[in-house]
Amino acid sequence: MEHAAKPHATFESGARAMMERIDGKAGELHVEAFRANAADPLHAAFPAKAIVHSGPSGMPLAGEAAEAALEALADRPRSGKTLAYIHVPFCETRCLYCMFYQNPLTEEAAHRYADALVRDLELWSGRAAQESAPIHAVYFGGGTPTALSSADLKRSIEAVRRHLPLANDCEITIEGRIHNFTDEKMEAALEAGANRFSLGAQTFSTDVRRSMMRVDDRETMIRRLEKLAGYDEAAVVIDLIYGFPGQSMDVWLDDLRTASSLPLDGVDCYQLNVFERSPLARRIAAGKLPPAADTAMKADMFAASVEFFTRANWRRLSNNHWGRTHRERNIYNELGKSACDCLAFGSGAGGRLFGASFMLERGLAEWSARVEAGRKPVQFLTKPGPWWTLLRSLTSAMESGAVNLHALGSAFGVDLEPIARPVVDQWIEAGLLVRRGEWLLQTVAGQYWHVTLAQLLMRWVSAQIVNESPKAHVHPAVNGASVMHPQKMQAAEARP
Ligand code: SF4
Repeated sequence: MEHAAKPHATFESGARAMMERIDGKAGELHVEAFRANAADPLHAAFPAKAIVHSGPSGMPLAGEAAEAALEALADRPRSGKTLAYIHVPFCETRCLYCMFYQNPLTEEAAHRYADALVRDLELWSGRAAQESAPIHAVYFGGGTPTALSSADLKRSIEAVRRHLPLANDCEITIEGRIHNFTDEKMEAALEAGANRFSLGAQTFSTDVRRSMMRVDDRETMIRRLEKLAGYDEAAVVIDLIYGFPGQSMDVWLDDLRTASSLPLDGVDCYQLNVFERSPLARRIAAGKLPPAADTAMKADMFAASVEFFTRANWRRLSNNHWGRTHRERNIYNELGKSACDCLAFGSGAGGRLFGASFMLERGLAEWSARVEAGRKPVQFLTKPGPWWTLLRSLTSAMESGAVNLHALGSAFGVDLEPIARPVVDQWIEAGLLVRRGEWLLQTVAGQYWHVTLAQLLMRWVSAQIVNESPKAHVHPAVNGASVMHPQKMQAAEARP
C-alpha cells in the first residue's frame, strides 16, 4: 500500500531544533532556552526529545594517539564497580529502523570472529586494568550474539569466564533475537554460564513485525520465549518498542498484555527513533509506510506502559525498565549509565577506563589484523575533561529518574543546587519534576523527557563551571550509581 508522502520528523531534525534553540544567540546559553512548556509537559515540554551533543565533552584522539593513550591505562589498577562489553557485529537480516547493523552473517565469518574474540580477551591478560578487581556485569551485545553457532557462543562465554575476573554474582547477559535462537544455542549459552537473556521482541504484532523486516511471527515469539524461560536457569528479559508505523495504541496495549502474560523476568520499553539514514526513514519518505508515531503519541504510549506495569505491581528499575522477579537485576544497564569502568572486546565495542571512553575498530578486517598482531585494536579514544565524572554522574542520575543535587555536588566540592536552580525550578513549575526533601523526582512527564532533561541539565551545569577546577576528589560511592535512587521514582506523582 502506498501512503501520501509528507515531511516527517527524524531524530536528527529534532536534535537540530533543540541545538538551535539552546545555542541560538552567538553560542551563549540563556536560561530562557531551557524552559519547558508548562501548558502540556507530557506531550510538548520541549520541541524535540534530544540534543546532538549528549555526553560530557573531552579531548578526542584517533589512530596511534588513541592506541598510546589506551596502552598507558592498561597497567593502572581499577577499583569500584566494573563492566565488560563484548560485541558480536553480525545480523542475519537488517531490521528497517536499525542503525547498529554492521556485517551480514556467514557461518565462516562468525566462526573466525569467535577465534579472534578469544584472542582479544587474552590481549590484556595479566595487566592491571583487566585483572585488578572484580567485574560485576558482562554484556554480549551487537549485532546479534544469538546469531553465533552454539559452539562459538559457548566458547566465547567460556573465554570471558576464563580471562576476566568475574565476581561470584556477576550478571552475564546474552542479547539477541528470537529468530534462529535454537534449543541447542539456548542450552549451550546456559551451560557456559549465561544467567540473563535480553531479547529484542519489539512488538508481538505479526503485521508490524513483518513491515519492519523482523522475521518471526507472534506465535513463534511466544513459543520460543516460553521455551527459554522454561529452563528456569536465567533471567529472561525482552525489549519492546513503541511508535512503529502502524502500531496503534491498541497494538501497544496488546504488546504490554502479551509480555505480561509470559513467564518473563523483566521488560524494557523503548521509543522508536527514526534516523535520517535508516531504511525506515526512506520508506516513510517514499510513502511506502505510514509515518511513525509523533512525540505526543509516543508520550501517551510511554504513559500507558507506566500505568500498565504500575497496576501489575512490577518493580520499576529505571524509567523504561520493569522487573517482575528478583532474578532480573539489571546491573549492566544501570551501571552502564554511570561513570564506572567498562572493558571492551570485539569489533565496534565501546568501553570506558578511568573516564576515557573508547571504541574498538569497527572494520572487521582491521580489527582482526590488529588483534592477530597482539595490539588492542582501539579506533577512537576521548580523554575526559576535568568535570567528566560529575557530569556523567549527573546525567546518570537524571536518566534514572531521581537526583540528589546536594549529595552529588558535595562529592565533588561544588555547590550544585544553586547552579542548577534557575533551570530546575522552572521544570518543577512546569510539572516535570517534584521535590521530596533533597531529592528531585521526575513526574511521568519528566520520565518521558528524562534524556532531554539530563542533556539540558548537563549542558547548563557544564557552562556554569567550565572555568572552575574540581575542588574535591570523587567519593568512591560516586563511581557507580549510589547517587541515584531509582526506587524513589515509585513515589513520583503520576501526573502528566
Ligand atoms: S537484529 Fe538488532 S542489530 Fe541486527 S539489524 Fe535488527 S535491530 Fe539491528
